Amino acid sequence: MADTDPRAPWHEPAMPVLDEEAVWVHEAAERFEHSRAEALLEWALDSFHPKLAISAAGGVDGMVLIDMAWRLNPDVRVFTLDTGRLPPETYSLFEDVRERYGIAVEFEYPDTTSVASLVNREGPNLMYRGVDLRLACCTVRKVEPLRRKLATLDAWVAGLRREQWASRRNIAKVELDRDHGGIAKLNPLADWTLDHVWDYVHHHEVPYHELFDHGYTSIGCAPCTRPVQPGEPERAGRWWWEHDTAKECGIHCSVELAGTKSDREKVETSTEGGA
Ligand code: SF4
Repeated sequence: MADTDPRAPWHEPAMPVLDEEAVWVHEAAERFEHSRAEALLEWALDSFHPKLAISAAGGVDGMVLIDMAWRLNPDVRVFTLDTGRLPPETYSLFEDVRERYGIAVEFEYPDTTSVASLVNREGPNLMYRGVDLRLACCTVRKVEPLRRKLATLDAWVAGLRREQWASRRNIAKVELDRDHGGIAKLNPLADWTLDHVWDYVHHHEVPYHELFDHGYTSIGCAPCTRPVQPGEPERAGRWWWEHDTAKECGIHCSVELAGTKSDREKVETSTEGGA
């Protein structure tokens, strides 16, 4: 049964990553650095499907990836982390995905016992009382569910772009995700600008999150995301009450291209430990 189920784990997620395994990642990153996003997606689908899935959280970048990948392979898999604190518009968007592309988004949920324990101890809106508590919430609702999901995959695709925030400045288009068992992490839009993303959305009439029409420039959990003012950075509306933090929840910032510092280390170095 497990042999034929594409969602069944293939390998232990904590397996060590060997140097030989890292070589192909470097080569792929170099090969696709100046390629179109579609070329990287096509290679990724050929190489990893059905052990590959796109991570989508409602952002416009994820929607571009879904549209592109669907044109290459209508069976492409998409997953999302349902934290239990998502805005209702996010669920409407995933209904749009189902209708437009015929893709049933795979929802991954937090462990209910862990959520109940944290909320009963610290309250439902603990995130506003300190970065440690906010990260505890992100860990239970996002990081751990993601770890469970990625333990079933050999590659995942994210809509990260280098211009979004300092913690994303150094991402490669092909990375080795050492935090998740050494699977491949692909960032086909790494060198895209926000204007480029919206041009694609309008040109291909890609469905997008309703909150983008209400001043939002990034989509996350309802209590932790708000609209931004004109001129503010794209991720300024995420955890807006925090200052001098990486504006990350821990699902992306530890990823490391083999032989280099992780993004977290780079940020710490560049800010003298200020994050
Ligand atoms: S973004 Fe906010 S609500 Fe969502 S998991 Fe993190 S702290 Fe919790």
